Amino acid sequence: MPNKPPAPAPERSATPRAALHEALLGAPKTSKDLSARAGLSEKEIPKHLEHLEKSLKAKGERLVVKPAECLACSFVFKDRSRFTAPGRCPECQSPRIAPPAFHIEVKTTKG
Ligand SMILES: [Zn+2]
Repeated sequence: MPNKPPAPAPERSATPRAALHEALLGAPKTSKDLSARAGLSEKEIPKHLEHLEKSLKAKGERLVVKPAECLACSFVFKDRSRFTAPGRCPECQSPRIAPPAFHIEVKTTKG
């Protein structure tokens, strides 16, 4: 009787991090957009972005972060932990915050 090893069903061809990388090569995306693209929970995105950023340097790529911004007074959260959205504006106390957006910039230097 021949052995039939149970082949794992390939639901996704790429790993979540590869999907994340691919999504970031396009237009800037928020954690919410990225979680949908990569099939990850939105809470996991900052952690993956941190790891991704480190691996990108070796490839000559750079993770560009557009910081979160208050929609009420345009305060920019430059000093904030970069990958997570703040809950409330320290200037005007508004909870209407545009989340940070991310994309990958590819360096075109020769070498
Ligand atoms: Zn504000």
